[in-house]
Amino acid sequence: MTDIHLMNVVSVPSRRGPKRIYTREEILARRRAFNVLYHQRRKNDPGYRAKRAEWAKKNKHKRKIKKNLNRKYYPKKPSTPDQRQRDALRKRLKRQTGGEVAREYGRLARAKRRARENKAEGFFTKEDVATLRKAQKGRCVYFRVCGRKLSEGFHVDHIVPLSKNGTNWPKNIQLLCVTCNCSKWNKDPIEFSRQQGLLL
Ligand SMILES: [Zn+2]
Repeated sequence: MTDIHLMNVVSVPSRRGPKRIYTREEILARRRAFNVLYHQRRKNDPGYRAKRAEWAKKNKHKRKIKKNLNRKYYPKKPSTPDQRQRDALRKRLKRQTGGEVAREYGRLARAKRRARENKAEGFFTKEDVATLRKAQKGRCVYFRVCGRKLSEGFHVDHIVPLSKNGTNWPKNIQLLCVTCNCSKWNKDPIEFSRQQGLLL
């Protein structure tokens, strides 16, 4: 037994004797065998599922052992000091800023992902967003229509949509309140802006 890698081994307490050791192969074989049996029984016995449920109720300790077996089979990876530090930092930031920093990360990450999906070039930083926020005086681009401030929550929007070959550079980015970003009028911004007298 000593040559078996620890990751592939779980020990399960048994009522019949000392702890039993299962290898990965044994566990898989047990599962396969059980699955075959299970489907046979279900096919031949209409009441099988009800009986199983009944059995499970009476044999909770056994189910616990099985659950344990599955859990131990995928051992939890120990987190590295780096990860722990990062998690702690995130937690602290979240607490200190009421989630605003977390949302900030989310905005950037989502824009980055959308840009990647659309193979768009360019990137922007949270400093760019802060600059934009200042330039927009903390207001939604369509403030005259919606009257909303960015402090109520905002989305980063691509002026020329990524789907229409817009870039992910700061130039192509504006900050919209959630309502405006999700509304139909934003689908054709130039037309909409004209209607509102914001352009030309
Ligand atoms: Zn708005």
